[in-house]
Amino acid sequence: MVEDDRALRQAIVTNAERAGYTVTALGDGLAAGEAIRSGHYDVILLDIGLPFVDGWRILGALEGRRAPSVIVISARGEEADKVRALDMGADDYLAKPFGADELLARLRAVLRRVRPPAGPSMVVTAGEVAVDLGARLVTRGGREVTLSPTEYLLVAELARHAGQVVDHRSLLQRVWGPAYASERNYLWTFIRRLRTKLENDPAAPQVIVTAGRQGYRFGPPAR
Ligand code: CA
Repeated sequence: MVEDDRALRQAIVTNAERAGYTVTALGDGLAAGEAIRSGHYDVILLDIGLPFVDGWRILGALEGRRAPSVIVISARGEEADKVRALDMGADDYLAKPFGADELLARLRAVLRRVRPPAGPSMVVTAGEVAVDLGARLVTRGGREVTLSPTEYLLVAELARHAGQVVDHRSLLQRVWGPAYASERNYLWTFIRRLRTKLENDPAAPQVIVTAGRQGYRFGPPAR
């Protein structure tokens, strides 16, 4: 947990520890960068406005790596910041002020995505992309594609229904959770990022296909 506001930091630690989590609390971006490089964390709660190294730079350094899940906690509650955070790989965005219950709910949701129950062993393909639902592995042209836990869950949810349209609300509810049914921004951002990783031409997607205004489809339509 990286937060320079001491009172907020202590409140979060108290609540998270009471809920059974083990928390490392840090007050600046430099210490946070060090800790993230050398530690093993499931989730990073990341403030944006931090001394020495700000949250954007920490997010940027995590981008494209097999990193822990990140929940950005920020006083800057503007929609543009939220989209930017999600674009840079954050899994969720929580605007200050927030209550302990809200924070714990977000933590549970993110951790459910990191450690879901094992799926059946099945490999689903579209073009040169293969999604192995048992091994939780995505390859493109035989090479592993590095995905965040949330990115993986989204493509896996589509692959599980390959050839069929999965509507926006269902995707948001199944991947992020029941409270996220209207958070279209999350979906657009993650679909865009998945396409840059999976498609030969992200502007003309063949793997994650837009199905009108309803939703998305993995691969060509099922006959
Ligand atoms: Ca701050």
